[in-house]
Amino acid sequence: MDIKQIKKDFPILDIKVNNKPLIYLDNAATTQKPLPVIEAISEYYQKYNANVHRGVHTLSQIATDKFEQVREQIRKFINAEHSSEIVYTRGTTESLNLLASSLSHYLREGDEIIVSESEHHSNIVPWQMACERTKTKLRVLPINDDGTYDISKLDSLLNENTKIVSLAQVSNSLGVIHDIKNIFHYIREIKHDNIFLIADGAQGIPHLKVDVQDLSCDFYCFSAHKIYAPMGIGVLYGRKELLEEMYPYQGGGEMIKEVSFEKTTYNIAPYRFEAGTPSVSDVIGFGKALEYIEQIGFDNIIAHEDKIMQYTIEQLERIEGLKIIGNAEHKAGAISFLIGNSHPFDVGTLLDQLGVAIRTGHHCAQPVMQHYNIPGTARASFALYTDFEDIDIFIKSLNRIVPMLQ
Ligand code: PMP
Repeated sequence: MDIKQIKKDFPILDIKVNNKPLIYLDNAATTQKPLPVIEAISEYYQKYNANVHRGVHTLSQIATDKFEQVREQIRKFINAEHSSEIVYTRGTTESLNLLASSLSHYLREGDEIIVSESEHHSNIVPWQMACERTKTKLRVLPINDDGTYDISKLDSLLNENTKIVSLAQVSNSLGVIHDIKNIFHYIREIKHDNIFLIADGAQGIPHLKVDVQDLSCDFYCFSAHKIYAPMGIGVLYGRKELLEEMYPYQGGGEMIKEVSFEKTTYNIAPYRFEAGTPSVSDVIGFGKALEYIEQIGFDNIIAHEDKIMQYTIEQLERIEGLKIIGNAEHKAGAISFLIGNSHPFDVGTLLDQLGVAIRTGHHCAQPVMQHYNIPGTARASFALYTDFEDIDIFIKSLNRIVPMLQ
């Protein structure tokens, strides 16, 4: 991969921040967008902006065709069986809220939902809200100190009341890869067939090759903005037979078959979950981002990011007083750390003055911080355009600020 050349595709990487060249290491929060994606959005508005699925006129048909072609691209990207298994949402958060709302119809008092201790708030709070509504109970799979799931506790959590297991494929706060495939296969093998298995793929999709069939999940949620596509668009993958039966999430146009004041019938999946006018331009941009990734080759991206991860860990470990939080063997995309007793905000603010953008805080995963008894971490996260030079500048900048933090 020619990263120097790839960087040229991302206009924002050329800007200066605080008079220093931008070193963007906040990719777990959102990735930057390549020019073809930005241009595709502009082209849509200049040449074929129209509402989808509603018009017989030419523009509407062009927009609808493109909108549906992207659904097929996404199907291929995650190896779903049918394109009707791809529901457009606003992102991971909306996908999870959709599930928490829709699956509530299957929950009875006393049922249980399992999440892990290291989930993002968007894979905790919607379930807590569902538990309040349905008088069900949230149970928590703990993590080990290296950030991996404590699998030894799984059996004691699973029982005949378990109805939903919802786990992240990669932790956003620690960058730890979780072997959810193994967990999901195990749950199916021990004949818990009636448990909905959900993967929060927000941090998995940019860094791992995802095959939803191989994972054996019922649902897989992700946000497009984490893989070089626009904000405001994301996906809920759901197995066809489940989506076809599930109660809709929001009511409105597009999600119905027939409406009368006596009775309304609902559209087939995925449209029954896509009420209202969708963000067509973002879908178009999403399709372009997938094309862009495919041109580079996803295997190349994974191999490159892996080298960057190993190199960064080695360099960070050389800095005295720096501690990596979540030292699991298999990590992707992000590294969390602390420097001595300094507050992560100070680390982030000082690095920003040197042009280096990292994330600081609890990363919307407060229970993780409670596990380690810390207020937050500093987190550096990578993307396909991160190169060794970026990491060298990051490490040099850290070495410069360490004395200021004592
Ligand atoms: N889950 C994880 C693991 C995440 O990293 C994020 C985004 N930080 C989300 C869920 C929520 O994604 P979004 O804000 O795009 O809906």
